[in-house]
Amino acid sequence: MRYDLAITGSGGAAFAAAITARDGGASVVMIERGTTGGTCVNTGCVPSKALLAAAAARHGAGDQRFPGITTQAGPVDMAALTGGKDDLVAAMRASKYTDLAADYGWEIIAGPARFTGGPDAPVLQVRRNDGGTATVEAGQYLVATGAAPWIPPISGLAGAGYLTSTTAMELTELPESMLVIGGNAVGLELAQMFARLGTRVTIAEALDRLAPFDEPEVSAAIEDAFDDEGIGIRTAAAVRSVRGDATARSAIITTAGGPERELAYGQILVAAGRRPVTAGLNLDAAGVKTGGRGEIITDEYQRTANPRIWAAGDVTGGPQFVYTAAAQGSAAAANALRNAGRAVDYAALPRVTFTSPAIASAGLTEAELTGQGVACDCRVLPLSAVPRAVVARDTRGVVKLVAEAGTGRVRGVHAVADGAGEMITAASYAIRARMTVTDLAQAWAPYLTMSEALRLAAQAFSRDVSRLSCCAA
Ligand SMILES: Cc1cc2nc3c(=O)[nH]c(=O)nc-3n(C[C@H](O)[C@H](O)[C@H](O)COP(=O)(O)OP(=O)(O)OC[C@H]3O[C@@H](n4cnc5c(N)ncnc54)[C@H](O)[C@@H]3O)c2cc1C
Repeated sequence: MRYDLAITGSGGAAFAAAITARDGGASVVMIERGTTGGTCVNTGCVPSKALLAAAAARHGAGDQRFPGITTQAGPVDMAALTGGKDDLVAAMRASKYTDLAADYGWEIIAGPARFTGGPDAPVLQVRRNDGGTATVEAGQYLVATGAAPWIPPISGLAGAGYLTSTTAMELTELPESMLVIGGNAVGLELAQMFARLGTRVTIAEALDRLAPFDEPEVSAAIEDAFDDEGIGIRTAAAVRSVRGDATARSAIITTAGGPERELAYGQILVAAGRRPVTAGLNLDAAGVKTGGRGEIITDEYQRTANPRIWAAGDVTGGPQFVYTAAAQGSAAAANALRNAGRAVDYAALPRVTFTSPAIASAGLTEAELTGQGVACDCRVLPLSAVPRAVVARDTRGVVKLVAEAGTGRVRGVHAVADGAGEMITAASYAIRARMTVTDLAQAWAPYLTMSEALRLAAQAFSRDVSRLSCCAA
């Protein structure tokens, strides 16, 4: 059978494309070599947030901040925790992915796919996981094969053995100590998760601050919060080599200006970024071009160098979020099948790192705005000025508004706060709606919510922070 659309991969990009295609009445086939649902539900968003919620519950019990309340954190049964997470993942995989494929009506072929047939007549060959091969022909093809952890070339690392985000979340025993290589979103989330479960954690980040692509104020706030929780932080740190085996490991680390140190860790978790998965797809033969990091190059409509082959999600090397993957996948299907001319707009894209306090941002950083030649009028509000944070006795964090000098137009919002992830949707809408700091200062914000921090930060453009009040309009 010849299909209208053949999709390689079954993650967020693939599912969004398939649903869009089926909504338009097109015939679809999906090919997946691993577990249906891809990264987000199986090894990414869902398991990490489930385990982070559990770790937060334990941390809260052991770090009671309210007078008169006594709670205690007990030991962790890691096998039970991991098992519970697996059950949750299986349930969400069924309800949000496999059942949907059946409901919408498309087949999923299990096995790795590769292009054959040349650029003018592309065909997919699938080596079926249960034996045999399948040949898939389609009018249009979508590559949505995601990304996988990148492992830096550190001497001795492979021999000593290491964890990735995937294998770390499969552990059935809690490590006594852990070195996390990488201080960006995945490294920060997993470092705090293990620390809050009881592991002694150190983060080694090659750049000079944690969350190195966020605002400097954000990095400083998250470093303070992690430091308070006893998480070791080594920035501008190079892990030179690793020694040992499954029973004992040590890493030689140098930091700028500091001496070389060899430190012992039970586990080493590599969270140094994720690179596009294209190996084995035979993209060259299909006339699909890739970039320096293996990413598939597309135009703004998700079309590759071959006009019948489209790409979406992490494999295209853009922002690594399931919602951007889904937006690209849906656009790709609409463009491929209906010539819809849809391009994804990233202007007010919200991003969240689910630490506690969380890091959330939308729009431009101060450096990005000034890099465009626009002078920035910025304000940084400490969370101690936000009533919600004060009554919750958790004033760790800041909110930074990036506004255009002169017009006051809000171009970026960056926050470290408990609940920052919930607040950032409103910030994204404000940026998209081209609101000014005056608009934000006068907008409704329920007292006492964390979202009120947006209004208070906007009021800080016309008032001293110490004089902010719920009752000042
Ligand atoms: C620990 C972690 C936490 C995360 N947390 C969040 C979060 O909270 N929020 C968020 O928005 N994003 C989060 N992300 C990122 C998010 O998971 C990804 O951006 C998103 O899942 C990418 O979707 P995708 O469709 O591009 O690829 P994937 O979901 O990775 O799907 C690609 C699929 O293609 C398959 N495949 C590859 N090659 C072939 C082949 N040759 N033949 C057949 N099949 C093939 C793979 O097996 C895979 O299933 C997280 C990621 C990680 C690792």
